[in-house]
Amino acid sequence: MIQRCGDCSRWTHYPLPRCPACRSAELTYQRVSGVGKVYNYTVSYRDFGLSLPRPYATAYVELEDVPSIRLATNNIFGCRVDDLHIGLDVEVMYHGYDDAELTLAYLSPRTLARGVVDAAVGEGVRSESIPA
Ligand SMILES: [Zn+2]
Repeated sequence: MIQRCGDCSRWTHYPLPRCPACRSAELTYQRVSGVGKVYNYTVSYRDFGLSLPRPYATAYVELEDVPSIRLATNNIFGCRVDDLHIGLDVEVMYHGYDDAELTLAYLSPRTLARGVVDAAVGEGVRSESIPA
């Protein structure tokens, strides 16, 4: 779901109380495909206090149906950092953590089977340990 202005139709991400273009408060959330491409990325080999296994990638992902929005995320699963590249087709998936009553969104390559990604996310495995 991405926020969109009901007056000028501009998409907005991250969520805001008013449209940054026309200042309208008529903002609603609209469903998007969750499919996109890696626009750019960086790989971190140092610990910046995020408690993530290293190396890990942070990517900007351009959504297919909302190209004006680029999502920044380090929740990329099922892809070794060496296999990450600009233009890689990715999609949003969700994983629920029953013990925390929490569902998180993450991105993975579109070519991966859902079961492979689910297993990786459930075990907290990000990039380096995923079988190709
Ligand atoms: Zn607006």
